[in-house]
Order: sequence, then structure tokens, then C-alpha cells
Amino acid sequence: MTDGQILLTGGAGYIGSHVAVALAEQGLTPVILDNFTNAKPSVIGRLEQITGGPVTCEEADILDRAALDDVFTRYPIRAVIHLAALKAVGESVERPLDYFQTNISGLIGLMQAMTKANVFQLVFSSSATVYGEAQIVPTPETAPLRHTSPYAYTKIACEQILEQAGAADSRWAIGRLRYFNPVGAHPSGLIGEDPNQRPNNLMPLIAKVAAGEMTEIQVFGDDYPTPDGTGVRDYIHVSDLAEGHVKSLTALDATGTSHLGSVDNQDSHLI
Ligand code: NAD
Repeated sequence: MTDGQILLTGGAGYIGSHVAVALAEQGLTPVILDNFTNAKPSVIGRLEQITGGPVTCEEADILDRAALDDVFTRYPIRAVIHLAALKAVGESVERPLDYFQTNISGLIGLMQAMTKANVFQLVFSSSATVYGEAQIVPTPETAPLRHTSPYAYTKIACEQILEQAGAADSRWAIGRLRYFNPVGAHPSGLIGEDPNQRPNNLMPLIAKVAAGEMTEIQVFGDDYPTPDGTGVRDYIHVSDLAEGHVKSLTALDATGTSHLGSVDNQDSHLI
């Protein structure tokens, strides 16, 4: 790995905080940028406890272009892992414009700031939601993309922006990671999934019921072809997923070219 720091947008969030740990484990220095819309500032102190050193965090909005330029000026950033986004599928149906603005405009502003700063390595957090109702399971990355929500649309649009920007300027080296259903937490128990808003994912809902913070959980569907008729899903441990982001960065360093990757639940690897 080469010198320089890694800008980690959304680094105080669920996946981002685990990516911060994975980067530190590889001797890489993250600079977290987060507006704490769905994370707590106390995460930073907890990351310092886990990594045993100071963790840099800039409180800023991904849409604040001046703040982005400022960060690139003040730190020797050499690559970016971009996780900052709105991610609740149901909410995206109610507030599509907010999702388009944060997720799509956020990426464009970030890439413009990166271009200005001469930084062209980017790992982008996409999602398996880009496949819609997958027709082929297991789903290959060549499967057609279909959006079934404004959130999914933003991920497809962002991937297209990345492709076209990369085609227009060969300096870009971009890793697009499509993943789904991360669960679990760092073994220290200091970080984990602790959203500010009502959780939308299954595991934090179960945890809230177990902790007595909520009374019940609703199970949707009873006629799937499974032993009890309810849905069955695969999950990936969030630390494996975090390691996948670092491997994507390593691959960009090694090859200097873009890649599309899946991080599946068998092991942390890039396909
Ligand atoms: P999260 O909400 O815990 O993390 C996102 C972080 O981004 C939060 O800390 C939030 O405060 C920050 N953020 C949001 N809007 C921002 C803005 N305008 N400016 C700066 N920071 C902002 O979510 P997560 O589960 O850690 O997801 C991280 C990324 O992974 C997202 O891009 C999401 O779409 C993607 N993803 C998540 C899942 C999943 O199931 N959790 C699956 C596939 C992809």
C-alpha cells in the first residue's frame, strides 16, 4: 500500500465504523467525514478505544462542496471509500428527492472534489438491490439491473455515473461493491448497528425487541417455499464486509484499474 490517508465518508455509520477498524488494522489512516444524520458522535471515541490511537473525524455534509474541498486541502488523501448515503428503502419511496440529492448529487460533488484534488481511487458502496427481484440465484454480476425503489434507483444511477466518468477519464480507478444484509458487530461490542432513526433492517429490530425497547416484530409473508413459509435470507458479517472494502482498495492500488465486486457471505473476497 502506498502512503496517504483514506477519506471514509459515512465512516461513523454501521458499515463505515467497521471499515475504519479494518483500515486501521492494515496500518491505513482513515479520515472520517460524516454529518451524523444516522450515527452518534460517540462512535469516534469508541473507534479510538478499539484502534488504540486518535481517529480523525470531520463533521460535514457530503453535499457541502466547500467542506469537501477543505478536507482534501487539509489532509493528504490518496483514496476515498464512499459510504455516506441515505439507505432506508421505505423512506426513499416517501422522500425520493432527498434520496436523489444525497445519494446521487452527493457522489457527483465528491467526484468533482476528488478531481480537483487529483485523487482518483474510489471504492463505492453499491447494493445488491440493483438486481431488483433477481431472476437468477446465485446472481452473477452480469445480471440485468432493475430498480424497485428510489433507493435502488440511486445505486444504479451512481454506478452509471461511475462507469461513464471512468470511461471519460482513464485516471479513475473505481471499485463498485454490491452487497446486502450485513449483520453482527465488532467483538469488542463497542460499535455496531445503532441507527438514530427507527431501524429498517431485521437484525436491529430483533435486537430492540430482545432489549425490551420494542414490544414485537412483524414477520411478513407465510407462503414462501421454506419449512415454515417465512422468508429465508443470507447474511454477511459486517467485519467480513469491512475487510472486503480494504481488499477493494488494495486491488485498486495493485491494478490501477476499476473493478466490480461482490462481497458474499462465504468469505470476504472480490470476484
Ligand atoms: P448508516 O446509515 O449506518 O451509515 C451511513 C452514514 O452516512 C451514517 O453515519 C450517516 O450519518 C452518514 N450520512 C448520511 N447522509 C450523509 C450526508 N449527507 N453527509 C455526510 N454523511 C452522511 O448505513 P450503513 O448500513 O452503514 O450503510 C453504508 C452504505 O452502505 C450506504 O451507502 C448504504 O446504501 C450501503 N449499503 C448498506 C446496506 C445495509 O444493509 N446496511 C446494504 C447495501 C449497501
